[in-house]
Amino acid sequence: MGGYGSGRSGYKQKAEHCRSLDVNRLHREGCLRPGRQGNWIWSRDGEEVGRIGYSAHEGRFDLDYKVRVHGGDWESISQPIRLAYADCHYGGQRPYFVCPGVVQGRNCWRRVGKLFSGGKFFLCRYCYNVGYASQTEARYDRMLRRANKLRMALGGEPGTAYWIAPKPKGMWQRTYQRMRFEIEWCEDQANQAFLSRFSHLLSPEEREMYFGD
Ligand SMILES: [Zn+2]
Repeated sequence: MGGYGSGRSGYKQKAEHCRSLDVNRLHREGCLRPGRQGNWIWSRDGEEVGRIGYSAHEGRFDLDYKVRVHGGDWESISQPIRLAYADCHYGGQRPYFVCPGVVQGRNCWRRVGKLFSGGKFFLCRYCYNVGYASQTEARYDRMLRRANKLRMALGGEPGTAYWIAPKPKGMWQRTYQRMRFEIEWCEDQANQAFLSRFSHLLSPEEREMYFGD
């Protein structure tokens, strides 16, 4: 397992970023209404432990936040999340997040009530659980290998210490975005696999947020 720096500090880094978003709670508090924007704040014992910026649009909820993973520099992330609505049994409509995860080149697009941040992005429990399922170390290697392959296909250097290369000439913007997303997803997954080795050090609350169990 190379390329990770010191494990313990990696784990601590991640613990700060583990947050979840509940679509029903956002809905109740009016945050999904198109035009609304502000900050969503997490607190524990009355103290703020994290916040992200959001803005609501028709059928979309945009997140704006900063993360620092792999002990690197702070990075600004803008993550648009699609919203879906389903009719309720007793009238009215219930909102869902459409998970923006990309797993093995395929969009997740599950309708979920909660998204978790176990790395850079807010993704559904399934997307983050995948990394926890089994043989985490083999998975760690596999995920990093795939990320590195994509990094090199874009003309960049392998390894999370490097920036992902800019879009090669002639490549579609969409293709590029998709590859970037997958690189970051794979690296998130490697992170998760790595973390799960230390899961016995987590509090029950943190375990639930990371792994949903
Ligand atoms: Zn997902």
